[in-house]
Amino acid sequence: MLEEMGLTPVWKLREAAPVEEAVATSEPAAPRQESRITNHESPITDPSDRRGEIMLLEWPALKARVAGCTDCPLHTRRNKTVFGVGDEKAEWLFVGEGPGAEEDAQGEPFVGQAGKLLDSMLAAIKLKRGENVYIANIVKCRPPGNRNPEAQEALQCEPYLHRQIDLIRPKLIIALGKVAAANLLASDASVASMRGKVHRYRGTPLIVTYHPAYLLRTLPDKAKAWVDLCFAVRTMEGLKQAVSSSPR
Ligand code: URA
Repeated sequence: MLEEMGLTPVWKLREAAPVEEAVATSEPAAPRQESRITNHESPITDPSDRRGEIMLLEWPALKARVAGCTDCPLHTRRNKTVFGVGDEKAEWLFVGEGPGAEEDAQGEPFVGQAGKLLDSMLAAIKLKRGENVYIANIVKCRPPGNRNPEAQEALQCEPYLHRQIDLIRPKLIIALGKVAAANLLASDASVASMRGKVHRYRGTPLIVTYHPAYLLRTLPDKAKAWVDLCFAVRTMEGLKQAVSSSPR
């Protein structure tokens, strides 16, 4: 699998990282950007109780809510919403940016070339799509031309991801790339500067690594992604040890 990632000889995983030592001092959240949407066909709707309503939904209702969502302009050009896929009790949650053309056609995240690399990355750390892994995106509808989601589109979609995370209760979130990291951590910092630390997203430990699509274009950084995956595995082991040794 490391060969598929373009990484040989095989590198060994090191021992569990002591999570509390690795936790990054949380930076103050940057203020959310104001809407930059000026030219979309339909307005953003945000009745004040929308978030609260979404946060009460169980899986079937949440899936139906997303499937029928028309709350931001991205819905007008989508073929399928891309809710997320995987084990609904997963310890690992991988979060990407938003659906591309193939995901929009199939309704499943990471099914194109980047998805193949993501599957290889998962396999390299003995994980498999759907088994103790959940995969989701910052936005559920494809941004036209694969542009980055606008701040207001991401904000409008945020309650869906929040609710998914509350239902899944993952032990560790992996933010794939700058857009995921920037939205989850409300920070404009580079991926390079966010790697190698345990951040927190609403209390859940979060690690940042490169987006598989970026890695397909930037082969030398695959080695860094492998370092990040090893760090994630050690962090997960540390999190599990911390739970098993905590007083009851
Ligand atoms: N890129 C992403 O960020 N998400 C997908 O689902 C596919 C490609």
